[in-house]
Amino acid sequence: MVEHERSTTPSPVKALVEMPISTPIDGVELTLLRSSGAGISGDDWLVEPLGSGILRLAVIDGAFSLDAERRPPVGHDAAVFAAGVVRTALRSEESAEEALERANSALFDPAVSPSRLRPSAAVAVIDLERREEGLFGVAVSAADCFVYAAGIAEVGGWEELVGGDHLNPEARARWTALRAAHLASCPACATSHCSTLLELEAVELDDPSNRSCPAIGRDERLSLRSKEFRAVQALVLSTDGIEPADIPDAPRAAARRLAATPMADVTVLRVTTS
Ligand SMILES: [Zn+2]
Repeated sequence: MVEHERSTTPSPVKALVEMPISTPIDGVELTLLRSSGAGISGDDWLVEPLGSGILRLAVIDGAFSLDAERRPPVGHDAAVFAAGVVRTALRSEESAEEALERANSALFDPAVSPSRLRPSAAVAVIDLERREEGLFGVAVSAADCFVYAAGIAEVGGWEELVGGDHLNPEARARWTALRAAHLASCPACATSHCSTLLELEAVELDDPSNRSCPAIGRDERLSLRSKEFRAVQALVLSTDGIEPADIPDAPRAAARRLAATPMADVTVLRVTTS
């Protein structure tokens, strides 16, 4: 009987950190949930009091370049660089849409091709204001970061304010079918994604006309999702990978995400009123 060799190196696993964050708005409690440790993170977040009593919150998900040879302008990893540009742009008094347009102009470089190699970042932002009737504001997102709200007067339960897929539905359906067909017949993909699959993905996902809501920096034209909200009791901003059904229990949702994918980047901001 041959005994299989076992690695003595512990697998790198991220831990979930839960941290309360003070806010200048009375009765508003803010909690950050983040994966931490084991390697660099392309995620970032922002809590920024703006003028006229508005509090801006954001979660940012920088995209890792598939091309390790390509270095962004300031020597960071491309994901960290893109997330930093978006974060810096949002620290201004202009509207979230204007700030994100500025970040897109700063990041977008048509000379970098294919487009998936451009430093880019998904983002969800809310500009929050406390009034007597509750929390008011506007939510904005790009690519697959999202915002959920609870207690909206007309709705009651949790509702997605902004978020969703960066691809349009036709492109998503086509890519899902192509990917499934490849995975079903490719032995190499049983262990890790093969170069053929990455090539298929490059062709499918690099066409700007397939995207309904591109990440910041990906395309010349930005198409943001935006929605005003009024009198909500709770909000959750999240990077991708959290199941919508888990949103009401954000810490559990983040923990489940990490349990399923131990190296995942998870960043969630939870806002509640007391
Ligand atoms: Zn394959």
